[in-house]
Amino acid sequence: MRLSRYFLPILRETPKEAEIVSHRLMLRAGMIRQEAAGIYAFLPLGMRVVQKVCQIVREEQNRAGAIEMLMPTIQSAELWRESGRYDDYGKEMLRIEDRHEREMLYGPTNEEMITEIFRASVKSYKQLPLNLYHIQWKFRDELRPRFGVYRSREFLMKDAYSFDLDAASSRHSYNKMFVAYLRTFARLGLKSIPMVAESGPIGGSLSHEFIILASTGESEVFCHRDYLDFPVPDEKVDFDNAAGLQKIVDQWTSLYAATSEKHESGAFDKIPEAKRLSARGIEVGHIFQFGTKYSEPMKATVAGPDGANVPVHMGSYGIGPTRLVAAIIEASHDETGIVWPEPVAPFKVALLNLKQGDSATDAACEKLYGELTARGIDVLYDDSDERAGGKFAAADLIGLPWQIVVGPKGLAEGKVELKRRAGGARETLSPADALARLAG
Ligand code: ATP
Ligand code: MG
Repeated sequence: MRLSRYFLPILRETPKEAEIVSHRLMLRAGMIRQEAAGIYAFLPLGMRVVQKVCQIVREEQNRAGAIEMLMPTIQSAELWRESGRYDDYGKEMLRIEDRHEREMLYGPTNEEMITEIFRASVKSYKQLPLNLYHIQWKFRDELRPRFGVYRSREFLMKDAYSFDLDAASSRHSYNKMFVAYLRTFARLGLKSIPMVAESGPIGGSLSHEFIILASTGESEVFCHRDYLDFPVPDEKVDFDNAAGLQKIVDQWTSLYAATSEKHESGAFDKIPEAKRLSARGIEVGHIFQFGTKYSEPMKATVAGPDGANVPVHMGSYGIGPTRLVAAIIEASHDETGIVWPEPVAPFKVALLNLKQGDSATDAACEKLYGELTARGIDVLYDDSDERAGGKFAAADLIGLPWQIVVGPKGLAEGKVELKRRAGGARETLSPADALARLAG
């Protein structure tokens, strides 16, 4: 992508309204723009990161056996009356009336709708287990939307819903998502810790929040330090092996870890002092097992092996891809800007032409740009008329993992500079070697 033909509205000044670093950097780097309180447009650079995050989330959901679909954002109030949640949900729900005076709502979550879809076509235990998910916009009329896309009113959620014949099999479905979440957050470059959680308006008995540690996090959390070094299951993990998964989950829940709502200081104080970690964290995922809470009132039953109809056991599993973009920046930035982990970077390389209009420099850049693109490497080519200092600052701000700096001085000796954004290490090498390094 040539910067001269792209849309990257970088802000020179730090926006005053932004209280935390990820919000400031997302605004400055031209990733988002606020359209109303807690409602954001994702500009091209921001959208690229959202897509990368969603793709990793999707791959890990699919690996764990969940099946992707897409439900609408607008739902009928009727459905929510069936579960009894229409009146309970309160002011967070955005209620709408259509032209026929039918009560509708903008979905804050989808338990009711998925239960309706399930009961319409699944009749036998032989069709179980089943896990369906989608990645869709949600709306919650948060009392205090803040911190940009960290706590917005409209936000993207991956929500998955599992259906099983009985509690034991439902536990296996829960564990699949637990392990998929560990893998997902690790692939995004984050260290997540599952913590015992309150299940809130979703309801149910078993629940974990996946928290990443960050000083700007809204949750106060308490845990054993060893969680930071626990191994994350690799891609060979067998999701069909119920006992194997249980062992992983047992390890990842063996030590103390709780958010303030579930905190028990007595248990925490039993951890050796050097291992006690009390910190702030960001909730990036939340999983629930809630048995027949929805299937019973909504009559989602299947015929069991003995022919009798029983309500299915369900769980639901949420991840916030747009909140994750902010969380990744909270975890990975320095004083000059964002430092993207490579798997979610909007482009892999920034190609900086230090003397736009100089024929030798332009030619070297064009050649590198063509070669990188031909190898499928995402490159943002700064071919603008900006001065060198401005190009360096912009490249550091948007935080692409690599920078190739091309200027007349270096070219006179047949060299360009390759800079690693994380750590700032620089190397002088030939354009061919730079290309080989990035393609390798
Ligand atoms: P919180 O406690 O932060 O308000 P929640 O417990 O209400 O979140 P869940 O219903 O568990 O949220 O939603 C699943 C996931 O959706 C959360 O883990 C989070 O990643 C994301 N999410 C929830 N609310 C928001 C929001 N207002 N803005 C951005 N992402 C959100
Ligand atoms: Mg939650």
